[in-house]
Formats: sequence, structure tokens, C-alpha cells
Amino acid sequence: MAGEAKTAENLVEKPQTLEALRAGIVAGRTRATELAASYYERIEKKNPRLNIYLSLTKERALEQAARMDALAAKGDPLPPLAGIPIGIKDVLVMQGAPSTAGSKILEGYQPPYDATAVKKLEAAGAVLLGKLNCDEFAMGSSNENSAYGPVLNPVDPERVPGGSSGGSAAAVAANLAVATLGTDTGGSIRQPASFCGVVGVLPTYGRVSRYGLIAYASSLDRIGPLAGNVRDAATLLGLIAGHDPSDATSSPAPVPDFAAESDKPAAGLRIGVPAEYFAEGLDSEVRAAVESGIAALEAAGCSVKPVSLPHTKYAVPTYYLIATAEASANLARFDGVRYGYRSPSSETLAAMYSNSRDQGFGAEVKRRILLGTYALSAGYYDAYYLKAQQVRRLLAEEFLRAFAEVDAIVTPTSPVPAFRLGEKTGDPVSMYLADIYTVTASLAGICGVSVPCGATKAGLPVGMQILAAHLKEATAFRVARAVEAAQA
Ligand code: GLN
Repeated sequence: MAGEAKTAENLVEKPQTLEALRAGIVAGRTRATELAASYYERIEKKNPRLNIYLSLTKERALEQAARMDALAAKGDPLPPLAGIPIGIKDVLVMQGAPSTAGSKILEGYQPPYDATAVKKLEAAGAVLLGKLNCDEFAMGSSNENSAYGPVLNPVDPERVPGGSSGGSAAAVAANLAVATLGTDTGGSIRQPASFCGVVGVLPTYGRVSRYGLIAYASSLDRIGPLAGNVRDAATLLGLIAGHDPSDATSSPAPVPDFAAESDKPAAGLRIGVPAEYFAEGLDSEVRAAVESGIAALEAAGCSVKPVSLPHTKYAVPTYYLIATAEASANLARFDGVRYGYRSPSSETLAAMYSNSRDQGFGAEVKRRILLGTYALSAGYYDAYYLKAQQVRRLLAEEFLRAFAEVDAIVTPTSPVPAFRLGEKTGDPVSMYLADIYTVTASLAGICGVSVPCGATKAGLPVGMQILAAHLKEATAFRVARAVEAAQA
């Protein structure tokens, strides 16, 4: 039985909170270098089984840890994440470190610069342990599309960790990092967080600079934190958010102290429950866990009322048209000339392009390039891409109307708990359909959090998705804290 296997292997382990770790480092009880070494030891032990890290950035990590120890030894003030071990999804570039985006086409690529979010974490004192496995170019919901093999879910290694940030969620669940960065285009932070029993944040579109993110669908891509608890996730978001001159779409809005905001009680907040997210196809145990989370919110003093989001039923086709259209354009740059893999045996330039792409991209990425190119082609553009943009607008307006009446909307993060490896790989459409609850917020540009709200009888974690209006992450964190508190 999976349950026995997991106890025997002891793969799940909760990281210490940032506060506890920081207190140890500030007081000199914990040395950052020793903490990093202990994480690398655990990675060495568990990673061969779970396949969470694609590469380690040991030298850089240990240098940073030594810097933090030196500061502490001198009694200098320490930055907020001094010595905290953090993992980075492989679609985010780190100077000189392999950054493959889970693709063979980027094998061996070593970017010449750091993503802004990465740079900000390091400037805050974080020790960056390495690069985390993910679906190829973040396309997928199970991490099975990685060219480097799937990640196993630490809760039950016969199951997927979710995707595309499967490595980012599994790393936190197995305590192979205190927290991680992931990316979310249609659910890729929230869904793996829910499958692995950790917290995942979808920041408002533009809240976090995308500079240095290997693009999938630029109008949807977001970078956000995953952590073992809501407050830590809030702290991390505060440190990576903010305007960046290198990303014209990054928001100039001031960044609140999200951790302090999350300490405010949820009492008095108005919570909306959309019937469309509790309809056919929702697993009964997932429903029960989410309903218990809603009951916890009522007990915490929130008012709960129904809201309606009738365009939800169009969200999956709308998302898959827009995401693939943008992907087909973004991935045109991988031609065997500028980055990574080049097919060695081509006689002409055109053959070199097509062979490099044919050999470098995996099946799902090719499927999406084909779908997206088709949707954008002359004669079909109006029927598909333009129509999808119109539906996207309707969905966004529908959310805005709902947020005139409620402060947050709660739903299941995924209609099902973590599924078995291989269960959906033969049927891409069933994989796409399971994104139903996450792609709506992606299309609307609003923010959200996935927080654990219970488990199935077999012990599989269930996540509750808490959505809030643009730039209202603080509200989502407050609600998430109340759900989390009820779990303790
Ligand atoms: N599962 C969705 C997709 O495959 C979302 C992925 C993501 O958010 N990066 O596109």
C-alpha cells in the first residue's frame, strides 16, 4: 500500500518556519553553512528517488551562506532571508547555472544573467540550493512532461506531484528546501501545491517581474512562492514583488507588508462560493475537505454567500487557445542557433532548424506549438484567438462583478487529488480539463493562494483555492491563514 511505503521511506517532512530558522541564525545557534550542508545531505539522500532537483548550485549557495555567517559573527544586522535555503524552478534563469526549463532543447544552456526574482531573493540573504524539475517549458499538470523524467509526489511516490511546478511543490513537501519559487500560467503553482500539501501563491499579473523567466505564455505567466505555511509564503512574495524597469508589465503599485497583513484576522471578510466550481466532475472527498475549510471560515467570523461565475465553462478552451498561441510565438526563438541543442547532422540551414526543433522539443510542447500556430493562422485567427480574447474579457469582468460583493472567492484548487503516474498521459484533453478551477484566475489576471484544507481517506492532500481581486493578495493571505489555523 502507498500509505505503508511512504512511512517506510519517510519522504514527507515539514520545513521549519522562516521565523524559527531566522531566530536560530540571528542568535548564532544555527550556522547558515551548516544549514545549507544539511539540506544538501537530505537532497543527496532523497533526490535519486524523487527527481526533484535537476541541478545544484552548491558553490554559489555555500558562498552566500558563508557571507551570512560572517555577518552574523560580526553582529551585523542580517537581511530578512539570511541563510534560508530556497530552490528555484528551472524556468527561471540563474547566471552560470544550467537552466533547461525541463527541455532537452536547453540542455547545457547557461544563462548570462539572473532573473529579477532570483536576484531579489539572494539580495535578501537567501541561499539558493539549485534548480527544480518541472514540465517542459511549464506545459503540463503532472510534471510528466519533463525531458528529465517525472518528479514523484513525496506524499505517495506512485502519484504525480502536480505540475508544472512539480519540483517546487515536492521540494517543500519533502523539506528539500524551506521554500521555492514556481511559476503559474494556468495553475502551475496552485495545483502542485494542492497535490503535495503545501502553500502556493499566484500573485496578481504584473506583481512580480517576469524578467529572466523563460516565457511560456507571456500574458499569463507569473512567478510566485511555495512554502510550508501561509506566513512564509507571504514574506517571500513581499520580497520578490515590485516594479522592475526590465519588465514593462510589472506593476508600479506599492508592495504591502504581506506577512504583517496576513496576521490580521479574517473575521468580517465576505467569502463567495461559486456553484460552478462545485459541479459535476468534482471528487467527493475533495468537495468534503473544501466544505470543511469553508465551515472553518464561518467559524472564524467570515460571512459566506454564493456568487456566480457562469463563464467558467468556457475557461479551459479559452485558456488553451491563448496559452498555445502565445507559446507558439515564444518558442520560435529555439532554433538551434542561439540557445542550447543543435541537431548535429543537417545539410541545410532549414533542415538544421527543423531537426533541432524536432529532436529538442518533447511531444506535448510540439502539440502546443501546432495548436497555437493553427489558432493564429490567417482565416482562423478571428474564430479562435480573437474569440478567446473576448471570452477572456467576459471572464475578467465577471470576477470584478463578484468582487464588488465579496472580498474573496473560495473553490477547490483541483477537482481531483494527486493522480497516479501515467494515469492521464495518454489523454491530453483529460489532463487539460482538470485545470478547470485554476485557469480562470489566470485569464482574469487576479491573485490567489492554494492552502491545504484537509486530506482524502487515503491521506492525499486537498487544497483550497482562495481568489482575490487584482493586487489584493493580502486579503487572500488573511483568509488562507484562517483555513490553515483550522488544520492545526
Ligand atoms: N496545466 C496548464 C498548462 O499545461 C498550466 C501550466 C502552467 O501554469 N504553467 O498549460
